Amino acid sequence: MTHAPSAIDPAAPLLRAWAHARQRGGALANAALDVIFPPACLVCRMAVAAHGALCPACWRGIGFIEKPYCERLGTPFPYDLGVPGLQSPEAIANPPVYHRARAVARFEDGPVRDLIHRLKYGDRMELAKPLGRWMARAGAELLAEADLLVPVPLHRRRLAWRRFNQANALAQVVAQLSGKKADPFALVRVKPTRPQVGLSRTQRAENMQGAFAVPEAATAAVLGRKVVLIDDVLTSGATLNAAARVLLRAGAAHVDVLVFARVVGAA
Ligand SMILES: [Zn+2]
Repeated sequence: MTHAPSAIDPAAPLLRAWAHARQRGGALANAALDVIFPPACLVCRMAVAAHGALCPACWRGIGFIEKPYCERLGTPFPYDLGVPGLQSPEAIANPPVYHRARAVARFEDGPVRDLIHRLKYGDRMELAKPLGRWMARAGAELLAEADLLVPVPLHRRRLAWRRFNQANALAQVVAQLSGKKADPFALVRVKPTRPQVGLSRTQRAENMQGAFAVPEAATAAVLGRKVVLIDDVLTSGATLNAAARVLLRAGAAHVDVLVFARVVGAA
């Protein structure tokens, strides 16, 4: 049975209390809580051995992105040419503003879209932990070099409506696991943008123009730093390119991108 995502998930406050209690509690508390909330697959709610895991069927459905992939875009190559640091024709024809991007999985495949949707709209913040854990693994190379993690911000109007920024929730988990600092105030969204769906590449870039800014108070935090931008999804790259451009203009030494899922087909 699927646990339908909804804006008002009746289990959400209980799950949050559970996550909080688990963080504080010992083994006994964990065991007691497992009785109340037996571990369930993050996607289909089938019983699994541990919290924050997927059942074998859902696991197989995820299109994990593994090497070999394009050094810049992180898009998988169909076969291994045995050349390290190879770039895809797409990266050469249309180089992104950011230096490199890495993603855990393909957005198009199986339960990934569902996981992202629930994290974003379903008030299921506890999903940030397992998704962030996978991101820390997929982005290990970028994170090792990073000075600062910056979540892609929402406009304050959207934040008020949605109540939390999923990119920031993921950045906090990745920061904890990588030992790097996450700064949710290094970048702000100064312009509310319309949804990118149905827009062409050029229209998307125009839509994102002037969307972000580095606030005066954050310039010292960004100057000369190697930044990793964190978001849930990379689609056309227009949002992350716009964010990277602003950070580079503010003096960041280097901007990489780490997302949970990315669109791999032609965008
Ligand atoms: Zn499942």
